[in-house]
Amino acid sequence: MWPERMEEAFHVVCHECSEEGVYESRSDAVATREAHADGTSHRVSLLAIGPAVPNP
Ligand SMILES: [Zn+2]
Repeated sequence: MWPERMEEAFHVVCHECSEEGVYESRSDAVATREAHADGTSHRVSLLAIGPAVPNP
């Protein structure tokens, strides 16, 4: 059964160093991405990960 509330996660990953994190809150992910990008001028991706997909 799927939970009633679809849970998303947001994966922040830097392309230029090992900075990486997964956040349940989009605003946390965006803040982290912007803080890292502003502080380092690195290119940082933010990927939305949908509700967990059963993956054999
Ligand atoms: Zn970086």
